[in-house]
Amino acid sequence: KDILLQVEDLYVQYDTSEGTSYAVNGISFQIRKGETFGLVGETGAGKTTTALAILKLLPKKVGNISRGKIEFEGKNLTAYSEDEMRDIRGSHISMIFQDPMTSLNPVLTVGDQIAEAIETHHLDLSADEVEDRVDSVLQLVGIPASRKYEYPHQFSGGMKQRVVIAMALVCDPMLLLADEPTTALDVTVQNQVLDMMGKLKEELNTSMIMITHDLGIVCQMCDSVAIMYAGEIIEIGSVFDIFDFDKPHHPYTKGLFGSLPSLQGNSKRLKPVDGLMPDPMDLPAGCKFHPRCTHCTAQCKTELPSVFTEGTHSIRCHLYDKTKAGEL
Ligand code: SF4
Repeated sequence: KDILLQVEDLYVQYDTSEGTSYAVNGISFQIRKGETFGLVGETGAGKTTTALAILKLLPKKVGNISRGKIEFEGKNLTAYSEDEMRDIRGSHISMIFQDPMTSLNPVLTVGDQIAEAIETHHLDLSADEVEDRVDSVLQLVGIPASRKYEYPHQFSGGMKQRVVIAMALVCDPMLLLADEPTTALDVTVQNQVLDMMGKLKEELNTSMIMITHDLGIVCQMCDSVAIMYAGEIIEIGSVFDIFDFDKPHHPYTKGLFGSLPSLQGNSKRLKPVDGLMPDPMDLPAGCKFHPRCTHCTAQCKTELPSVFTEGTHSIRCHLYDKTKAGEL
């Protein structure tokens, strides 16, 4: 009953002039109220496509949800019209992109942009109420309200991202999709923004999908984690499952993490794994990771592995069918 978002067997494809690109291939996960869910993987794994599919912001005419269901508060978003989705975006689900400038208008003051975001969804507020809201949301993200008269170029990178977060939070969304929100920032500013997001999450009880390459961020921010590869979730579990040395892990997760850092470990980037992510227009048969896997068998080349689950932890790999569980 406290499930906010349920994604079930979701498939997303892009139909281009060169062919069909299979970006997301049958993923399922759920997010509880107040939970932060990490989506981890290399570029091209399908993380951003998943977020865009939830908001139904896939590129028009090209991207489409070919199968599956996205339920938000028990309502099936996949059946929503564009008008209905416009109500959901911003007021119920907000997205923060990697580069703050994609969300900011350079010719409007920061205050006017935040006011615009409020007015889109709260037509019933008076001008004074909107003004108060702008001031309080700026303070919430650690920006003095007096700076609302300034333009985006007068803010540093970290401050710009705070403004974007303020805009995303202004209508109290229940779910925040954050796509690498700190990648464009330097490390000190990154930590400040993450600390602030963590505090906001506590204060507002907002659920979050955190798309990231950074295992330190996963440790610091996330309650549960899904590892994506070639449009599939190949491992999913609580942050304790994923960072537990003694538990079995998918060979790709092991490769990415190098030696798994402890939960107290310092920020750690994903390790490059030998080989390349397959072309989504030409995915390999069987396990999509098999061309890069050192444990690959004949079965892996032809049969899609089923999912092995133990408690909150699931792995999609032939090594972990029930008879062999625990061997690795
Ligand atoms: Fe490797 Fe086979 Fe497991 Fe795929 S199913 S990760 S190829 S062992």
